[in-house]
Amino acid sequence: ERLVEELAPLRSLARHPLFQVMLTLQNLERGTAGRPQAHAGAVNARFDMEMTAAEAFGTDGRPAGLHGVLVVAADLFDASTAERIVDWFVRVLTALTAAAGTRLRGVELLDASLRDRVLVGWNDTAAEITDATVMDLFDRQVAASPDAVAVIADGVERSYREVDAAANRVARHLAALGVRAESVVAVVMDRGVDLVTALLGVWKAGGAYLPIDPRTPAARIEFMLFDSGAQHVLTSAVGEWSVPSTVVSELAGVDDGPVPVRVSAAGAAYVIYTSGSTGTPKGVVVSHAGAVNLGLAQGRAWGTGPGSRVLQFASIGFDAATSELLMALAWGGALVVAPADELRPGSGLAELLDRHAVTHATLPPAVLAVLDPVTVRSVGTVVSAGEALDRAVVDRWASERLLVNAYGPTETSVCATMSAPLSVGQAPTVGGPIANTRVYVLDDGLVPVPPGVAGELYIAGAGLARGYVGRAGLTAQRFVACPFGSGERMYRTGDLVKWTADGQLMFVGRVDEQVKLRGYRIEPGEVEAVLLGHPQVARAAVVV
Ligand code: AMP
Ligand code: MG
Repeated sequence: ERLVEELAPLRSLARHPLFQVMLTLQNLERGTAGRPQAHAGAVNARFDMEMTAAEAFGTDGRPAGLHGVLVVAADLFDASTAERIVDWFVRVLTALTAAAGTRLRGVELLDASLRDRVLVGWNDTAAEITDATVMDLFDRQVAASPDAVAVIADGVERSYREVDAAANRVARHLAALGVRAESVVAVVMDRGVDLVTALLGVWKAGGAYLPIDPRTPAARIEFMLFDSGAQHVLTSAVGEWSVPSTVVSELAGVDDGPVPVRVSAAGAAYVIYTSGSTGTPKGVVVSHAGAVNLGLAQGRAWGTGPGSRVLQFASIGFDAATSELLMALAWGGALVVAPADELRPGSGLAELLDRHAVTHATLPPAVLAVLDPVTVRSVGTVVSAGEALDRAVVDRWASERLLVNAYGPTETSVCATMSAPLSVGQAPTVGGPIANTRVYVLDDGLVPVPPGVAGELYIAGAGLARGYVGRAGLTAQRFVACPFGSGERMYRTGDLVKWTADGQLMFVGRVDEQVKLRGYRIEPGEVEAVLLGHPQVARAAVVV
């Protein structure tokens, strides 16, 4: 009380002014034998959490261990949580007293069965792995139903056969220019039918595409072209780049027979640049294996197929655009494309969804928050992705539609975990790992943490990207050896998550400064580094 009086800290009714957790060891007086009793509800919690332990002695006066009581504020902690914390505390004390040299970091809170559950049971995702490339998935649909609609825009419908032929023209053109497996081809185009043709055309030539929104600042485009070693640019209007370019719509005269090319599943499918904390963006190279695993898992989970109409919402520079393309075209559905101004949340987007009877839409939570579910009747499945979903959005959509929360960094091929359909009132979990994916929630010693405890998320499995273009050191920092598998790599996400007791992941936040701003993943350090490059700037701090 004296300290509070003298220091006059900012007061709040919600917490004790100086501290919230207290641990007391009563070792001055000789306690009496027996365990102090706690009665739920009978104790008045003075702090959020208060643990008192005292040395106990038997009737013969000999030491009889430590006995203690944990008191928690019932409005903050469940009784079961408090019991778990006591169990863990006892485990720590037991481990440390059994071997006095044990380092705290080496103490495992998980017992063998829980450890097995978090490492193995909740990661039981093995599914068939094919050696197909994404083009094989598309080719199957062309063969199965050539006349089905593949791409829809206002006034335009293109069948699988037509899209296939148009993509072959692009591929032939690129192949003649020397594009083959592992070649990078930049695609600097707006959303639209030609964009789809261009992306598929790069794949059909065996190459990897580097998708770039044409509104990206010129210097950044040049950086990406140079850094990725892009051989060529596909575009919709002639631009001034240091790399030769082709306007896709001018390839109508090219022969539309397929290009004979063989690409392995480990081959590069696309390169996406994302913010880098040291001042320059870094290019993530995703393999066909990762993209195929994603396409198959999503289609299975969300039931896309013939008759489905999938919205192409994401800006082309995001890997989510590739995910949308696969959702439709790997499964025989149609991709609905529209210019950016029709995708603005509000009436434009609602009208578009309605006009084209879109059945599947992947939208960021910010858009879901302002879009009215009632106005978009056709959309049976809504995937929220890219940023943390909040309860208000869950309640708004889950009563009307199948709403699922999908999570993943670019480095694991778009999506690493997804929830089951959420229900009203449910906390917005990101679910569990998708097919052929394993997730680990670890402390900073790479030890698995128990359910309910936040740790950093590491991801292993088929979706892992090959790494960052030309950045072996950074790749080694983020794609590290996985101590739980058989010598595979795992990607260190920088995301803080925790397991629920029944094996669902809850997103908690970031371990670093990275933020999302209107869907863009930004390392403030990148902006700081650029600011610091100015001769008159000595220090920089960037916040949202
Ligand atoms: P990006 O590589 O641009 O897709 O950004 C990936 C990052 O976005 C992740 O590491 C998370 O921080 C965040 N993120 C993506 N999806 C979700 C989600 N469903 N819930 C919470 N955060 C998400
Ligand atoms: Mg993403």
